[in-house]
Amino acid sequence: MGKGFFQVPWATNEPILEYAPGSPEREAVLKQYKEYYNGSEEVPLYIGDQEVKTGATRNMTPPHDHQHIVGAYHMVEKKHVDSAIEAALEARIKWAQLPWEQRAAIFLKAADLMAGPYRAKMNAATMIAQSKTIHQAEIDSACELIDFLRFNVQYMAEIYSQQPESSDGIWNRVEYRPLEGFVYAITPFNFTAIAGNLPSSAALMGNVVIWKPSSNQVFSAKVIMDVFKAAGLPDGVINMICGNPAMITDTILDHPDFAGIHYTGSTEVFQSLWKQIGNNIAQYKTYPKIVGETGGKDFIIAHPTAPAQQVATAIVRGAFEYQGQKCSAASRVYLPKSTAVTILDAVKKDVDSFKPPGSPEDMSNFITAVINEGAFDDLSGYIDRAKADKDAEIIAGGGYDKSKGYFIEPTVILTTDPKYVTMKTELFGPVVTIYIYEDKDWSKTLDLVDGTSEYALTGAVMGTDRYALDEATKALENCAGNFYINDKPTGAVVGQQPFGGARASGTNDKAGSAQNLLRWVSPRLIKETFVTPEDYRYPFLG
Ligand code: NAD
Repeated sequence: MGKGFFQVPWATNEPILEYAPGSPEREAVLKQYKEYYNGSEEVPLYIGDQEVKTGATRNMTPPHDHQHIVGAYHMVEKKHVDSAIEAALEARIKWAQLPWEQRAAIFLKAADLMAGPYRAKMNAATMIAQSKTIHQAEIDSACELIDFLRFNVQYMAEIYSQQPESSDGIWNRVEYRPLEGFVYAITPFNFTAIAGNLPSSAALMGNVVIWKPSSNQVFSAKVIMDVFKAAGLPDGVINMICGNPAMITDTILDHPDFAGIHYTGSTEVFQSLWKQIGNNIAQYKTYPKIVGETGGKDFIIAHPTAPAQQVATAIVRGAFEYQGQKCSAASRVYLPKSTAVTILDAVKKDVDSFKPPGSPEDMSNFITAVINEGAFDDLSGYIDRAKADKDAEIIAGGGYDKSKGYFIEPTVILTTDPKYVTMKTELFGPVVTIYIYEDKDWSKTLDLVDGTSEYALTGAVMGTDRYALDEATKALENCAGNFYINDKPTGAVVGQQPFGGARASGTNDKAGSAQNLLRWVSPRLIKETFVTPEDYRYPFLG
């Protein structure tokens, strides 16, 4: 601890820039986009003070132009994973002892670099790697990551200030030690902010980290590492390695100093990680912390009193922004018979107004590509199935084409079966399924919403009848970690709507909250007695 009780700067949400035609931010990001697009980035492994080039490389290609190569990243071998663990443990010796305000300063500086000189780079890289429109990139790789960094510093200060009572002659104090060992961060493709937050939140609390980004996000992950380095993060605190996830995971989870996993991605992978940790449990020095935020099958249920246009807009934004590739994306919708036709007409009108999916460089595009060929094939398979199935009908979209980019048209499926496959399965793409219920079955439909999916991430109820809203809030208590009333179920903001879900959706440790940071510490209570007893006899023995 330094020589003072320092107050950290008060965190506020980073303002979202507009990128209107002619604005300086639009010019800057398009210039950077072109530079990256026509250049060739090489991404090494970041291990301790080394940038390792193994020579075994994989090309990086934008999902909206998959034959165009924008660079390559180096693939890790087992020996490098071992070196990354060694480098992390070596770095821990100094990092875990560094006063907290020094750690805070590094990540506050990283936030300011992202807000200023690196903003165009963060956003352009995210547009290219993950095919985000500039608005989707701005709210992710700029604003959300900046918010994570600034709010986490504030939460860390709040946690450190939580101290126990002391009584006469005794001083009790708690120190929030980092975990004894290293943390393994595994990140998904769909949010650059999550990619930056999972390793940095653990590191902020004094931990050292091995970070494995998604192979689909390496291009923007490199910019994050560039920023952390520019902010003065010491070598070895965050080690970034890319390559075969199973080999990396086997090596890391085999190590006795493995102390925690910070994961976001699909449920299936998380469950396999948990099992593997369980199988290895006797060999670890400490019980590992397991934090995972995973899949969702997020819903909107409209009450007959919900204004039709509001429901339509919630569906269109909630289901199709970023091609539905948000864990929170609305993907199953329950509409009352009395207003369904009006709502669906409005949805169709909106979908018809989208330009065909295209490149994010053309800023008039609302819809771009899905992340890779695997996702494209899965999604087009579900669309074909809906075209063939008797209990499903495609009422908007339904087209797809992967000749240049992985383009799937925003698609609306109407089903008569509330348990139809696309009402239950996470598709992770621009496909939403609608089920129409009889108005009188409102309460029964709430039970249906509760019982249809294994997930419980986000969900929304819409309506103006306060009794109905209250009933839904109670009936759907365990259906969503983030529950919205009269809004779409996406767009959580750090510091305002801490994010996470339960059931199969994860451990619900709420990214961007003090609750999450508490998982990365192991508190030590120190009791100091000022006048230490010198006689074992208590007065009652007299
Ligand atoms: P994914 O499961 O394919 O990959 C996630 C990460 O796990 C990647 O880094 C991947 O390389 C890695 N991985 C894959 N197999 C592995 C293995 N055997 N061992 C270790 N790591 C392995 O997910 P994705 O396609 O990148 O992301 C989409 C998924 O993430 C969706 O299910 C979505 O709902 C979920 N997600 C959830 C949240 C949330 O907060 N709940 C946020 C974003 C994404």
